[in-house]
Amino acid sequence: MGKSGYLPNVSANFGFFKSLAVNNLQRKDWNGAAAALNSLNGCLGEDYLVTISTKEYDKKMKEDDVYCCNHCTMTIDKISNEGQEDETTKQIEVPTEIPVNEIRVYDLINQIIVGILSGSQTTKFWQCNKCGKENEMSKTRKIVAERVNPFFARVVPNCPIRESGLANRDTFEREFLKWAYSFLEEINYAEFLYRTEWKSQNDGDDMPDTFKDKGDLT
Ligand SMILES: [Zn+2]
Repeated sequence: MGKSGYLPNVSANFGFFKSLAVNNLQRKDWNGAAAALNSLNGCLGEDYLVTISTKEYDKKMKEDDVYCCNHCTMTIDKISNEGQEDETTKQIEVPTEIPVNEIRVYDLINQIIVGILSGSQTTKFWQCNKCGKENEMSKTRKIVAERVNPFFARVVPNCPIRESGLANRDTFEREFLKWAYSFLEEINYAEFLYRTEWKSQNDGDDMPDTFKDKGDLT
């Protein structure tokens, strides 16, 4: 991280559109939910927003599982407005992704006090082969081919389209909910990366949560 420009505090907009998306999902207002999710995604700015592309998503699903290093970053190409006239490719930095088959996992024996607190005598680590630093397995984010938690692909397929006919309604609702919650999870992860970068730009302070913290108004 660090190459993107100065990030604005978008905490109020995050909070607003996230509540709106969840409310619309609960009310089964699918169009409203899709619109709120797109607005929420837009809050993240072009460097952080989740790509919406069935083509990119299918490609990502064919890749090997990877672990994300907590200590170093890599540069990737980010495509916006794919297939449209204003398609652009931009380079952004994300946590380094190391294919699982290149990773060696090892146990370290816990110090007595940690062992007592965690109830286990060893902690699993892996070493990043780019920066050489140790990552604790339980604190590692994983990008995996099958959807199991935690799962972050930075891309979701296109929004399911509703076909006419009553028989298609249940199928559509199931597909839409699956899509919407995947999108929300990806946005939450992108928001985490955004906040982390924001913190590093603001002397380690957290982004003030202007939406939730109504106490500020009094
Ligand atoms: Zn690393």
